[in-house]
Amino acid sequence: MNKDSQFPGELPRREFIKLCVTATAIMGLPFRMHSQVAAAAQSSPRPPVIWLHFQECTGCSESLLRSSHPTVSSLILDLISLDYHETLMAGSGAQAEQSLHESMAANRGKYLLVVEGAIPKAQNGIFCKIGGKTAVELLREAAPGAAAVLCIGTCSSFGGIQSVGVNPTSAVGVRDLVTDRPIVNIPGCPPNPYNFLSTVLYYLTFKRLPKLDALGRPKFAYGRKIHEHCERRPHFDAGRFAQAYGDAGHAQGYCLYKLGCKGPATYANCSVQRFNDVGVWPVSIGHPCIGCTEPDILFKLPIAEKVQIHDPTPFDSYAPANLKEKGKGPDPLTTGIVGLAAGAVIGAGIMMAKKLPNASPTQTGESHDHEPKE
Ligand code: SF4
Repeated sequence: MNKDSQFPGELPRREFIKLCVTATAIMGLPFRMHSQVAAAAQSSPRPPVIWLHFQECTGCSESLLRSSHPTVSSLILDLISLDYHETLMAGSGAQAEQSLHESMAANRGKYLLVVEGAIPKAQNGIFCKIGGKTAVELLREAAPGAAAVLCIGTCSSFGGIQSVGVNPTSAVGVRDLVTDRPIVNIPGCPPNPYNFLSTVLYYLTFKRLPKLDALGRPKFAYGRKIHEHCERRPHFDAGRFAQAYGDAGHAQGYCLYKLGCKGPATYANCSVQRFNDVGVWPVSIGHPCIGCTEPDILFKLPIAEKVQIHDPTPFDSYAPANLKEKGKGPDPLTTGIVGLAAGAVIGAGIMMAKKLPNASPTQTGESHDHEPKE
């Protein structure tokens, strides 16, 4: 904490409030709640965090720490008490292991366990050992005392590239081994640091985990398909596609679907939140989405293979661009009628949802009463 400031992460007030406003928006909360989020960030006791690395490239930690704009990582590291992190801690060997066990014993039931990397099960887990213990043993030691397990990245969430194909080490994600603790999956290769920050801030603000989807991902970050908010979507709707890297369509920013873009089947907020605080993401710089937040797409479908679009979702962000160019675009009257019909269906869905009774909280942290009280 900066001695000259009450704001975490050594941040000037303006930067701190800006980050809280951004996280509030990502969480889908009303703008006015940013002050509640900021207050929680300043006053809540810092939750102890134990961060374990297994089969991975450390890309999730690296992307969080090496961002071009360091405030996100500094805020995250100041919001939590990072008691054990093999890449960041100064200690090593027996001292580090002692610190791990002391923290687990002193904070039983209170610490957040962050897992980065898949866990190999084959041959009693000998393919990944730290301090003489296998990843399976370390996870089984640390998970029971955790208030919740946060899986950062697709490897710890779903097994990642290690689990693809013949999977020689029988690598799996945390959810295949831990079934009695709340688990939040924050997949991505790497995930956006803001999604991790927002999950921690949600936990600090509301003292509970956010709503999760069927794959254990926070709905606020993984509730919509990339295709719904992509800046190239007007070209998709108008039938304008890049046919090859470097062709005229690619140079003009046409849709990348025919180059294998997995955006129509991938739930994530990359196209909205973007990366590196400079407003870029793979599709914006000409590379198709590879579906890195989806367990059945990443490394399982060839990058150039087109995904099937089973349930087309309406475009949500950008105004149509030149839809009538060369007579290719949809008729405005048709678009209007389709829009009205979609609105009616969504409205009916909302009314139905309001009438449904609340479900009970599940062990994965999903709850239908998690809407914050304003
Ligand atoms: Fe964007 Fe990919 Fe959808 Fe095209 S297919 S609009 S590039 S997400």
